[in-house]
Amino acid sequence: MAQEKTDKMEKIVSLCKRRGFVFQGSEIYGGLAGVYDFGPHGVELLNNIKKSWWKENVYDKENYFGIDSGMFKNPKVWEASGHTSGFSDPLAECRECNTRIRVDKELERVGVTADEKMSDEEINRLFNEHRDEIVCTKCGKKDFTEARSFNLLVKSNLGDFTSEASEPVYLPGEACQGIYLNFKNIVDTMQPKVPFGVSQIGKAFRNEISPRNFLFRTREFEQADTQYFVRPNENKEAFERIKKERWDWYISLGIDEKKLRFKQHENLVFYAADAWDIEYEFPTGFDEIEGIHDRTDYDLTQHMKFSGVDLRYTDPNSGEKYIPWILETSMGLGRAFFAVMTDAYYEEEMNGETRVVLKLAKHLSPYRAAVSPLLKNKPELAEKAREVFLMLKKMFGNIAWDDNGNIGKRYRRQDEIGTPACIVIDFETLEGDTKDTVTVRDRDTGAQNRVPIAELVTYLTQV
Ligand code: ATP
Repeated sequence: MAQEKTDKMEKIVSLCKRRGFVFQGSEIYGGLAGVYDFGPHGVELLNNIKKSWWKENVYDKENYFGIDSGMFKNPKVWEASGHTSGFSDPLAECRECNTRIRVDKELERVGVTADEKMSDEEINRLFNEHRDEIVCTKCGKKDFTEARSFNLLVKSNLGDFTSEASEPVYLPGEACQGIYLNFKNIVDTMQPKVPFGVSQIGKAFRNEISPRNFLFRTREFEQADTQYFVRPNENKEAFERIKKERWDWYISLGIDEKKLRFKQHENLVFYAADAWDIEYEFPTGFDEIEGIHDRTDYDLTQHMKFSGVDLRYTDPNSGEKYIPWILETSMGLGRAFFAVMTDAYYEEEMNGETRVVLKLAKHLSPYRAAVSPLLKNKPELAEKAREVFLMLKKMFGNIAWDDNGNIGKRYRRQDEIGTPACIVIDFETLEGDTKDTVTVRDRDTGAQNRVPIAELVTYLTQV
C-alpha cells in the first residue's frame, strides 16, 4: 500500500511537469525548496478552482463581500495577531547530518497526537518518549537535538535602506489579516448588517522547516479565506451551516466523498470556541486541506487594542455596540489543486490500450474542448477546423488547437490534461448529408457523437 501511494505521488508530480501544470520554482538554477510555478495548464486549472470558490463565497451569497488587500502590512499587525511571538513550529536537528525535522508532524506520523500549539516542554516530553521511532529520513540515525520553537514568519527588508531599521517588515504568514484590517472600511463603505462575510484570495509565506509532499507543504502558497462576522454567541448554527457548505463545495469539484473527512481539533488555542479541518486522502494519506475555525472576538479585539481604533460594530436598529465574533474558513489553493489532481487521475484500459486520463469536472478543465482537423496536410480540413476553432474560442476562450501527430495521439494528449471534448473536422464535415457536422469525442467514455457545427456551443455548454 505504501509503495502504491509513493507511485501515485510520483506519477502525479511527473504528469504535472510533463503536461505543463506545475514546475519546480527556479528550476534552471537547481530549484528553490518549497516553491513551485504553475504552467500554462496548471494556471487554468488553478484559476478555475479560484473562480468556483469566488462564486460560492461571494456571488452565490448575499451580504458577502470580496476584497484584495496588500501583502505588506504595518509590522504591528503581526504583533497584534500573535504571529511575532507565537507563530512557530517545533524544530529538531539531526546531530549526524543536520537535517531539520518538524517534531509535531513526526510524532503524528508515528501515531502520537501532537500539534504546533503545544509548549516546548510538552512536545519534548512526547518526543523523548518516542525518540526510538523517529528516524532521520536522510541518514537513518535517531540522534536528534531537543525540540525548540522556530518562528515561521518570513522577514523582508522593505524600506530598510540603512540596514538599521528597528522593526522588520514581514511577508504575510496568513492572508486573512487583510480582512480584519479592513473590517471598519467595509462596515463604513458597504453598510453590511451582521451577520456578513468577507472573502479574499491572497498569498501567504511561511518558513516551513521541511517543505514536502509537492504542493502540500510549500513556503509560498495562496489561501482562500472567508471571515463571517456574527453577533457574540450567535455562532453555533452558522458554524454548522458553514461546515456543510464547505464540504459540499469540495463535492461540487467532483471530489469523491469517500476521500474527504472532518477532523475536530483536540487542542484549541485559548481564544477559539471550536475548530475543524476538512481532510483529503492525498497519496501520502489523509491530511488537512482547509481549516474551519470559530475564533470568537479575538482578532478584532487584538487589532482594536494595538491600533487604538474602535472596531466595534453598531447595530443600526438598537444602537448597541459590540465586537462581532468571527467564523473563519481558510483553504490552501495548492492543496485544493493537488487534491483535485489526485482525485481526477486514472490509469485505465480503453480500446486495448492503457491510458492516463484526468477526469476533471468540466468547469475545472484547462480546456473546455480541443479542435482538430482529421488530417493535417489537407488544407480544406484545416481551414474548416480553424473556422470552428476561432468561433468556439470567441465563445469560451479556453479552447485548444491540436493538430500534432495522429488522431489517437491527440486524444491521449487531451485525456492527460483533462479536456472533456475533442472535436474533429473530417471529410464528412465538408460534404453530403453530414455537411457542417463534426465528430465530438467524450473524454470519459470515448463515445463519438456527430454534432452540427451550429449546435456546438449549446452542446458544449450542456454536456
Ligand atoms: P499545517 O498544520 O498543515 O501546517 P495549518 O493548520 O498551520 O496547516 P492554517 O494556518 O490553518 O494551516 O492555514 C489554512 C490553510 O492553508 C491550510 O488548511 C492549508 O490548506 C494551507 N496551508 C497552510 N500551510 C501551508 C503550506 N505550508 N503549504 C501549502 N498550504 C498551506
